[in-house]
Amino acid sequence: MGSNHEVVNTFKIVQGQIDAVCERMNIDGGIRARLQKCERELIVNFPVKMDDGTFKIFTGFRVQHSDTRGPAKGGLRYHPDVTLDETRALAARMTLKAAVVNIPYGGAKGGVICNPKLMSQGELERLTRRYATEISILIGPERDIPAPDVGTNPQVMAWIMDVYSMNKGYSVLGVVTGKPVEIGGSRGRFEATGRGCMFSAKLAAKHLGVNLKEATVVVQGCGNVGSVAAKLLAKEGCRIIAISDSKSGVCNLKGLDVESLLNHKKETGSIADFVDAETINNAELLALPCDILVPAAIENQIVKANAADIKAKMIVEGANGPTTPEADRILHDNGVFVVPDVLANAGGVVVSYFEWVQGLQSFFWSEEEVNSQLHAVIDNAFHEVLEVSQREKVDMRTASYMLAVGRVAKAMALRGIYP
Ligand code: NAD
Repeated sequence: MGSNHEVVNTFKIVQGQIDAVCERMNIDGGIRARLQKCERELIVNFPVKMDDGTFKIFTGFRVQHSDTRGPAKGGLRYHPDVTLDETRALAARMTLKAAVVNIPYGGAKGGVICNPKLMSQGELERLTRRYATEISILIGPERDIPAPDVGTNPQVMAWIMDVYSMNKGYSVLGVVTGKPVEIGGSRGRFEATGRGCMFSAKLAAKHLGVNLKEATVVVQGCGNVGSVAAKLLAKEGCRIIAISDSKSGVCNLKGLDVESLLNHKKETGSIADFVDAETINNAELLALPCDILVPAAIENQIVKANAADIKAKMIVEGANGPTTPEADRILHDNGVFVVPDVLANAGGVVVSYFEWVQGLQSFFWSEEEVNSQLHAVIDNAFHEVLEVSQREKVDMRTASYMLAVGRVAKAMALRGIYP
């Protein structure tokens, strides 16, 4: 359903965004050069025994963009379109995201080129255990901590924790986040990214004077982030008028019953053919008039070719990098308020941080505690970004990058260069 036929290199986009902010902030050339590169990049090619008895070679990556402010942190993606450049871009965004919300992490990302939808549980487990072994030279609770992303889930994290722990000889809770609660996961982690989107949407609505009880919402993507964001925004009183997944999109201008839609997806594997809704394609979905658009699927969905069609008052970026810089300029000119990914979807990494802290202390919080601490972090970050945006007369994305790059650059300057 991708709306985008423009060829975009997401790492070049992030490099360009970082460079523009460094220029504006007069950041030292050496630090600027460091921010442009990823510190460590590992490519692994490894065999997996498939159910039919054959072996298949898979390629995976683990990239650490920066560990200046703390251990590198970032998710793992299982998807056929994973590339090294995409992984680098996502790793760099993680450095910025952790800095925007001011948690003591650097940025990393990993991925395996595969189609998890076409693999059995056994194949996925063997792939994960071997990939975890291959990247074990980089990961660890004080060094680099993976988490779920597109195509991975708490079960995948459980296998990685098991592999790492078996090699150490004792259970290491802090090596991954997004684990099942039964083995040291945090309450509230599964919903954290969608919940953070909901908090961001609420703050943006308040800022723009939009009443959430009368607001209409469109969500692209119905996975972890999209489904939770839709559910929680519906709970806030919003009318969810359209949702899509990679196969289909459904729309009902009177409002979709999100709970039944999610049950339908659970039962049938897709949102297609949901009763009480019309089918809609990706381009139509993005162009629907609404108050809040939540792109929560994959990157580069709002591009030069379709940005002018967007009629939403605000965009809350659940996905990483859903909007290209050309599209950003068009949205800005058209007065669309964009809450950028590094802020809008930071809920996941914030609760990952809480999970890591809980694991290190072996002391676990209630869900209320997790949600209220998450709220405090997102609220604070939103207002810090808004303050920079108003003071510097820049959009929220530039403001969040300025805040983040400023924090990382300061940390780099303080630590200096070894040796
Ligand atoms: P997921 O695999 O659970 O869900 C992705 C969803 O997007 C699925 O419903 C899929 O069908 C849909 N999709 C894929 N391609 C699509 C297309 N072209 N059009 C419409 N729908 C499409 O993944 P997720 O964890 O929900 O991640 C979604 C986005 O959020 C990604 O960009 C990810 O990097 C970002 N993100 C995730 C987290 C997290 O905690 N899971 C945190 C921060 C950011």
